[in-house]
Amino acid sequence: MADKVDVVVIGGGLAGLAAAYFLAEAGIETIVVERGDYSGSKNVTGGRLYLNPVRPFFPADFWNDAPFERPVVKEKLSVLSVRAATTVEFSSEKLRAEPRSSYTVLRAKFDQWLADKVSEKGAFIIAKNKVDDLIYDGARVVGVKATDSELLCDVVVAADGVLSFTAEKAKMRGALNPHYHALGVKEIIELPAKTIEDRFGVAAGEGAAQLFFGSITQGMVGGGFLYTNRESVSLGMVVGIEALMHHEPRIEAPELMEMLKARPEVAPLIDGGSTVEYSAHVIPEGGVRALPKLVGDGILLAGDAAGFGLNMGITVRGMDFALASGALAARAIKDAKAKNDFSALSLSVYEQSLRDSFVMQDLQTFRGMLDVLDNPRMFTKYPEAITGIFEQMFWIGDQPKQKLSATAIREALKGFGNLDAVRDALGLMKV
Ligand SMILES: Cc1cc2nc3c(=O)[nH]c(=O)nc-3n(C[C@H](O)[C@H](O)[C@H](O)COP(=O)(O)OP(=O)(O)OC[C@H]3O[C@@H](n4cnc5c(N)ncnc54)[C@H](O)[C@@H]3O)c2cc1C
Repeated sequence: MADKVDVVVIGGGLAGLAAAYFLAEAGIETIVVERGDYSGSKNVTGGRLYLNPVRPFFPADFWNDAPFERPVVKEKLSVLSVRAATTVEFSSEKLRAEPRSSYTVLRAKFDQWLADKVSEKGAFIIAKNKVDDLIYDGARVVGVKATDSELLCDVVVAADGVLSFTAEKAKMRGALNPHYHALGVKEIIELPAKTIEDRFGVAAGEGAAQLFFGSITQGMVGGGFLYTNRESVSLGMVVGIEALMHHEPRIEAPELMEMLKARPEVAPLIDGGSTVEYSAHVIPEGGVRALPKLVGDGILLAGDAAGFGLNMGITVRGMDFALASGALAARAIKDAKAKNDFSALSLSVYEQSLRDSFVMQDLQTFRGMLDVLDNPRMFTKYPEAITGIFEQMFWIGDQPKQKLSATAIREALKGFGNLDAVRDALGLMKV
């Protein structure tokens, strides 16, 4: 006879832990089953958590002792062509103001901290256990089969990440579509804190985020990122899986990563550092167009398992969606428990609360982002045009120089004065 609890959460990442935290707080008996050695051991992120969207879901003092790396007070966006680069740098009082709007994190530390909070609230986290199957009563999910045991429950929260076998087993989505997914590779490169602060021009304890866009992905949708941690930087590349599959000549993401590291704009930033961690992971980027069914009888999906990821071109988001959707899943289960009704209809308040929150609203706003970005011109022609304008403006050659305005107009027309560019600009205005 299997044991019975109120809720089984599959996956002890941010979505699962957020759900478990609020379930336990509501006195709902909750077990988190995590296949990794501990929460954070298998989790990959670029590294920047936008805290403002999730603050309203958590108690005001919740984050006071969180193991954040550095608050991001400086944004850099580098447009790279094959032989040149233009970087826009932005910093402001608003970015520096308390409470800080975003922090860099390392998941091995961050998820463990959250897991401790969940345990303190009274939920159990069973690590080194993989859920292999769901248990059904008719069409209703009533439990899970894990490595060591079978567990029955009223509700399963599937927070098992982007590849969610649970969502597929429960027929809440079909096989993953490569068009809607990207591959991320990342290295954590250790450097002394002072070196990081000097190289990125930030004060002690403060941090920067830099994104790289253009020729580094060889015409494929994607880009590079660099986030400063306390004593390391997280450097990585994200590339659309479908684009990678069809790229000629064939190229693998780790090769692109090596090319990024060798770029003259990047190499000095990581010079002398030692790579202490290498990871690769899939990212959901389909937004509202690729969402699975979010609730079923006795089951709901949260975080990456629900497809809640967003590539906004100038940033990748998913951790804030994971935390918020986990919190909303817990609320929906609390309501369902009060009615003792765990049917899909009863749990569907979850969908409504997601629609009322930034999760669905941001996914909806940026629903066209992938169409705009999935365009080789964005990564080849336009970066060449942008860097070309600056090159001509700054370059003093052996011939008399033309007026700056004439130079700028000539170069801009060369890169953007055609029908494709007008069409692409109109597309950009939709996001
Ligand atoms: C390279 C890269 C860069 C990114 N950059 C950012 C960024 O800067 N900012 C941002 O907000 N987001 C970013 N994201 C997205 C973000 O990391 C994810 O959206 C977030 O980690 C999702 O959290 P989650 O809890 O839903 O899933 P996960 O963190 O993937 O957690 C799922 C958990 O489920 C466990 N699990 C899986 N299967 C089973 C099973 N069968 N049984 C038991 N346990 C199981 C896993 O071990 C894991 O712990 C990035 C992602 C990548 C890959």
